[in-house]
Amino acid sequence: MMGPPGVGKGTQADLLGDYFQPCHLSTGDVFRAATYQSGPEHLSASMTAALDYMKRGMLAPDETVIDMIRERARCLACQHGFLLDGFPRSVAQAKALDAMLEGLCLRLDAVINYTLPTAQVVERLSGRRTCRGCKATFHVQGKPPKVENVCDHCEGELYQREDDYPEAIHTRLEEYKRSTAPLEAFYAGNGVLVTVSAEGAPEDIFQRTVDAVLSS
Ligand code: AMP
Repeated sequence: MMGPPGVGKGTQADLLGDYFQPCHLSTGDVFRAATYQSGPEHLSASMTAALDYMKRGMLAPDETVIDMIRERARCLACQHGFLLDGFPRSVAQAKALDAMLEGLCLRLDAVINYTLPTAQVVERLSGRRTCRGCKATFHVQGKPPKVENVCDHCEGELYQREDDYPEAIHTRLEEYKRSTAPLEAFYAGNGVLVTVSAEGAPEDIFQRTVDAVLSS
């Protein structure tokens, strides 16, 4: 899955996960789990550096992320396939993924490319609140929790991701344009790009996605 930050990839990954039952791998979630689960003394130098990039809204170095996927390559060979969320984000990462898939005699069925006007991306990101426990997302205006700062599902604490602060949002959108948008041409050339509008309600976007993937 690709698309600018805030486009709703995480929400769609959950819905698509229920439907297709793939192994779901989100590189952003792996980074965030490293931040909260291990103290700084347990992190490798490359992970510490990657988390610093993340806080500033910048992309982590390709080698760190590619190693992360390589360590989890068994997910790619899962019986019901895999759903990569937030990877690849650069042409170098896409080429590394191609090589890994070739080694496993697998191929990509579809690359889902979500699109949304920039003003809506900024609006979604700046109001987003995330649960520390189950990672569910809310929006201060569009989808507020029943109790302020408390997750409706697991009663976990809601927080604003550091990379959802205004200055980091700007950087993330620039990074997307610079590094990730060129992947559209890369995957269109491979014939696997499926572009889906991310406007509207999550259930509508999900239906659009399923229809587009199944007819691709
Ligand atoms: P996400 O939750 O997918 O928006 O990812 C959050 C942050 O993790 C990104 O802004 C990057 O700093 C880092 N990150 C996640 N996936 C990648 C990737 N494939 N390449 C580089 N950085 C990544």
